Amino acid sequence: MNTKPLLVILGGGESGVGAALLAQAKGMDVFLSDRGTLQDEYRETLRQAAIPFEEGQHTEERILQATEVVKSPGIPTKVPIVQKLLAKQIPIISEIELAARYTKAKLIGITGSNGKTTTTLLIYHLLKNAGLRVGLAGNIGDSFAQQVIEDTYDYFVLELSSFQLDDMYNVRLNVAVLLNITPDHLDRYEYTFQKYVDSKFRLLQNMTAEDSFIYYAESQPIQEELAKRSLDIQHFPISLSTTPEPGAYLASGELLARSHSQTFQTALAELPLQGKHNAINMLAAILAGQAIGLTAEQIRQALLTFQNAAHRLEPVGTIDGIRFINDSKATNVDSVYYALESITTPIIWIAGGLDKGNDYSQIDSLVKEKVKALICLGKDNSKLFSYFSAKVPHLVETQDVAEAVNLGLEFGQQGDTVLLSPACASFDLFRNYEDRGNQFKEAVKKRETK
Ligand code: ADP
Repeated sequence: MNTKPLLVILGGGESGVGAALLAQAKGMDVFLSDRGTLQDEYRETLRQAAIPFEEGQHTEERILQATEVVKSPGIPTKVPIVQKLLAKQIPIISEIELAARYTKAKLIGITGSNGKTTTTLLIYHLLKNAGLRVGLAGNIGDSFAQQVIEDTYDYFVLELSSFQLDDMYNVRLNVAVLLNITPDHLDRYEYTFQKYVDSKFRLLQNMTAEDSFIYYAESQPIQEELAKRSLDIQHFPISLSTTPEPGAYLASGELLARSHSQTFQTALAELPLQGKHNAINMLAAILAGQAIGLTAEQIRQALLTFQNAAHRLEPVGTIDGIRFINDSKATNVDSVYYALESITTPIIWIAGGLDKGNDYSQIDSLVKEKVKALICLGKDNSKLFSYFSAKVPHLVETQDVAEAVNLGLEFGQQGDTVLLSPACASFDLFRNYEDRGNQFKEAVKKRETK
C-alpha cells in the first residue's frame, strides 16, 4: 500500500501549479484537478514535471484520497467537491500556507479591501531598492510556492486576499499591514460583513510580541474589531487626522512616521503617488520599511522612484487640455471615493458594469461637488441612472469605450478630467478590468493622434 502523503491541488492556475511543483520537490505524491481548462503554459509545465493532473472534471474517488488539499482562492467553499472534503475532514489549506512551511524568509503580509496591490508593490520596491534579497508573491506575480523551492530570499512581501487568509492557519507574519475593510465579496461570506472582517483579521492570528502590526486607524470596522481583541503585538497606527506615536500620519501636506527608533518626513507633493488613499498606502510602506530597519533616506529614494501598476489612477493622456485617467481597477465604491477625492478639477466620470450591491451614498457629496457629467458604460445602467439622475447635470449611456471617450471630449473643456473609475466589475462588456482599462487607453491614444 502506498503510504506517501497525497497532496491534491484544486485549481491549476499560477498558485496551484506552483504548489504542485513545490510538493513534488518535497517528495510528496501530487494530483492536480481543475474543473475548467488549463492555460497552455501551465499544462506544459505539469507535463514536463510529470505531475499527474486532470482538467474539465473533478474525479471524486481520487480527490477524496488526499491527505491534504491546496485549494485555489477562486474556488468557493460551497462547491460540492469542497463540501465533500469538509465532510471527510480532509484539511484544506491555501498555497500560502503550504509555501510558508518551506521558507526561512521573514514574511510581510498586506491585506485590505482596497490598496493591497499598490502597497505590496511599494513595500517590495522599498526593500529591493535597499539591496535586500526580497521576493514578491501572494495574490500577485509568481507563485509563492514555486519561489520557495530554491528559497533564496530573506524576505517575502505577500499580497493576501481574504480568500487566501481563509485557508491560512499557521503562517506567522513578521510584519502585517491592514489597510481598510469595506463591504466587498460578501457573496462568499453569506452576506455577513462580520465574517469578512473575521477573515481579514486572520492576518494577525500567529503574530507575537516581536512582530509589527500596521493599520489604518480611521477605518471604523478595524477600530471596532481591535476594541474587541487584546493583541500581544506591537501596534503602529496610520492616521489622517491625529499624530500617533509610534505610528505614521499626514499633517500639513507632510508624510511623517516614527517607529522602531526611526523618523521619516517628506512632503507628499514631491512623491509620484497622489491622493489621500495613496498617502495611507505610502505611510504603511514607510512603517513596514522602518520595521525591517531601512533608513529614512533609503525609504525616501524608493518612494521617489516608485511606479504603480497600471489601471490605478493611471494618467493616459491629454486631448485639447482635457486629462484622461484610467482607474479601471476601481471596482467598488470606496475606491471611487478616493479617486474623486484626489482629483481637483471638474470631472467627467465614466462608471458602470456589473454592480456587486453598491451603495453610492458614500460618494454623494463628492459627485455633487465635482462631477459635471456621468457616462454610464455598462450593459444595464438603470441603477446608476436612477441614483444619479437628479445629482449630475448630464447623464448618458453607451456600451462602447471609444464612444465613452468621445462623449468625455464633448462634455469636457480645457482643464477638466475624464475619469474611468467604474465602481463595478467589468465582466458584462469586457474580459476583465485590465481589458476594460486597455481598451480605454487605446481609445484615448487613437483620439490623441487624430
Ligand atoms: P487591491 O489590490 O486591494 O484591489 P489596488 O492597489 O489594486 O488594490 O487598488 C484598487 C483600487 O483602489 C484603485 O482604484 C485604487 O486607486 C484604489 N485604492 C488604492 N489604495 C486605496 C486605499 N488605501 N483606500 C481606498 N482605495 C484605494
